[in-house]
Amino acid sequence: MDYDIIIGIETHVELDTHSKMFCTCSANGFGAEPNVHVCPTCAGMPGALPVINKRAVEFSMMLGVALNCSINQHTFWERKSYWYPDLPKGYQITQYQYPMCYDGYLEFDVRDLSGGWNEQSYRKRVRIRRAHLEEDTGKLTHAGRSSYVDYNRSGVPLLEIVTEPDIFNAHEAYAYLSALQDIVRYLGISTGDMEKGAMRCEPNMSLRPKGTDAFGTKVEIKNLNSLSAVRGAIAYEAKRQSAALDKGEKIRQVTLGWDDVRGVTVVQREKEDAHDYRYFPEPDLPPLDVSDAWLDEVRAQVPELPIAKQARYQSEFGLSAYDAVQLTNNKAVAEWFEKGISAGKDEGPVHPSSFILHPFAKRLANFIIGDLTRLMNASGTAINQIKIKPAQLLGLAKLVEAQTINSNTAKLVIEEMFNTGAEAQAIVQAKGLAQVSDSSVLEKTIGDVLAANPKEVENYLKGNEKLLQFLVGQTMKASKGKANPQMIQSLMKAALERRRL
Ligand code: ADP
Ligand code: MG
Ligand code: ZN
Repeated sequence: MDYDIIIGIETHVELDTHSKMFCTCSANGFGAEPNVHVCPTCAGMPGALPVINKRAVEFSMMLGVALNCSINQHTFWERKSYWYPDLPKGYQITQYQYPMCYDGYLEFDVRDLSGGWNEQSYRKRVRIRRAHLEEDTGKLTHAGRSSYVDYNRSGVPLLEIVTEPDIFNAHEAYAYLSALQDIVRYLGISTGDMEKGAMRCEPNMSLRPKGTDAFGTKVEIKNLNSLSAVRGAIAYEAKRQSAALDKGEKIRQVTLGWDDVRGVTVVQREKEDAHDYRYFPEPDLPPLDVSDAWLDEVRAQVPELPIAKQARYQSEFGLSAYDAVQLTNNKAVAEWFEKGISAGKDEGPVHPSSFILHPFAKRLANFIIGDLTRLMNASGTAINQIKIKPAQLLGLAKLVEAQTINSNTAKLVIEEMFNTGAEAQAIVQAKGLAQVSDSSVLEKTIGDVLAANPKEVENYLKGNEKLLQFLVGQTMKASKGKANPQMIQSLMKAALERRRL
């Protein structure tokens, strides 16, 4: 039988604040010695009192704004009771009845696997049910008959984001999570690094026969620490559940873990041992009231987000959707590109209509997406550490636009700029790289090439027109790559045609 897959995702994001949610311990303990960022509060000592981290509240509201949520300006903290050694108080302080943010949505593009846009690509909206603020637990390590606990992570601010069941396959789940990851990074509220546990997600998933309305029994999948694990686990569960349903079996409501090595899900817990959390208001903390003025301040801190940037790059600069996505994947790259744009904002032809396209935008985009990315990857340098400045890359774009150098030469120049930080113009002058567009010089080189390749000339004249490209190539070579290629092309053709007479 054919089935619809229904998925809702719960994501935990560790907020990148200096201190923990309710104490002054450092929140950046990843990779540190165990138990070096601990105090009586986050170790759960009796009598230690929590204090709210203001920045964490702001970060969670920023995400709420970015996800088009309503913000609860009056909320209070609640105790969620359960006993586990990584939760030293025996309860977690969280928001239950009034989450910080609720009823929003995230809009993103579902693209092909390489991030490109094709006929199967589409824009998707997933509703956000809630995003609430809480504290992370410590970390348990089991070794043989012993267990070790590390409280460095205990009390780190944690934001839990819950979607409505609006996701219908592994591909959409992947696209949703990477869009969410981009947003927390754009906002600067979390590193979003899944491999370091700063972003952890749990898909809930069920199947139902195609064409029916009622939701099937759902399972929850935990321990997914990469986007590819999410895709793998969902694909695996879709197969397992449809095979079970085909055989007339019932799906059990269970919590599953994902075994990355074997590529299978394993049952961790049955629904029967579901917890009774006994939520009640946290007596050690006051209710949280957010004034209109504070909320306005927070709104002002939310930058332009990837999807809006992409639309603007296309309409304002005339870039393709692909270029716009490549440039906006990383906020630092987008900002670098925009600096290059604004360095040239008074340049070039300004169109008389209100629709002003930046004359160098496409060239800047090509340089960044192509050569610059390649050079940065090869040397392991991030864009804000490189020697080239945005205005210098604009300088290179101008030289190509003015046909002072051709695009082959530009490749050499950008590499030199990358290595030395010198201006494009200076490199072109020092190395004598300026393109030769003087037709008398080019005619001379063409004459030499024709004289040196009599066989090819003869065959061309007999009808093998492909040899034109060979002869053009020889001329480019003879000019050490500096000839203007369009001019060579037409001058060579004319020179050959003259020989027919
Ligand atoms: P629980 O109380 O078991 O945690 P919730 O109703 O809070 O369940 O939902 C948790 C997540 O599961 C949400 O993201 C929600 O969209 C999703 N979800 C709920 N029901 C289903 C279902 N039948 N199939 C798939 N996902 C579901
Ligand atoms: Mg749940
Ligand atoms: Zn502490």
